[in-house]
Amino acid sequence: MSGLLEGKNIVIMGVANERSIAWGITRSLHNAGANLIFTNRQERSHQKLVKLLESNNMEATLLVNCDVASDESIQAAFAEIKEKVGVIHGVIHSVAFAKREELKGEYADTSRDGFLLAQEISAYSLVAVTNAAKELMTEGGSIVTQTYIGSERVIPNYNVMGVAKASLEASVRYLAEDMGKYNIRVNAISAGPIRTLSAKGVSGFNDKANVIVEKAPLRRNVDQDQVGDATLFFVSDLSRGVTGEVLHVDSGFHIIG
Ligand code: NDP
Repeated sequence: MSGLLEGKNIVIMGVANERSIAWGITRSLHNAGANLIFTNRQERSHQKLVKLLESNNMEATLLVNCDVASDESIQAAFAEIKEKVGVIHGVIHSVAFAKREELKGEYADTSRDGFLLAQEISAYSLVAVTNAAKELMTEGGSIVTQTYIGSERVIPNYNVMGVAKASLEASVRYLAEDMGKYNIRVNAISAGPIRTLSAKGVSGFNDKANVIVEKAPLRRNVDQDQVGDATLFFVSDLSRGVTGEVLHVDSGFHIIG
């Protein structure tokens, strides 16, 4: 797979630490020869990323700050990428947020501001990022986001995030239609449960992981590298005929009734 992304400039949003799905994606895209540009929100994540890159002997093309809660921050991040890198060929959107108290108990208890916050950071951000990135994708491109089966089915405790992921997946389809004429594709990966910082915020992680081992056709959990390789497929020309798709990387769990 080496060389598949040689000379391609890819923006990766959402590495918080070595457990992040975006870090698994980083490994796959790096092995395929991509030039990587990273965005972080928190200084702490930025510092962790710098150390991770160093200890893995990887060199980033550029590191920029970006808080997707702010249009100005998104604009400034992509303006800096345009100025320092120029053309980009892909964006990995691996960003989500909901208040911890909304990720347990009954969905019916969701607050108005908790609902709006989850939608804003986890779904609307893809719209704003796509719009900013398209200006830099003058040679065509691929945008890949991360979703979860809680968008399709009721998964205990996932609550407001499940509704945000449903909105994210619908956005993937509408954005795919808008972007197709610019030769930009938009797709999502629906990963099985993976133990990350964000996953810890949802009550009952172990139950979710145990169900996969018990019921999924492959009877094992997925990891960051499997999501990374599936994302590599979406970023590369191997998937040039695919857009508006949600690909399940979940050991086949979604087909089981
Ligand atoms: P991480 O906690 O490792 O990553 C979440 C990332 O979201 C962090 O890097 C965080 O940045 C970023 N983020 C949150 N708010 C903002 C913001 N306002 N602006 C910019 N960045 C922000 O968890 P995961 O790797 O698990 O999550 C990545 C994606 O994968 C999410 O969309 C998640 O829903 C999805 N997913 C996760 C699954 C799992 O089981 N783990 C399963 C299926 C999908 P910072 O650290 O700088 O705050």
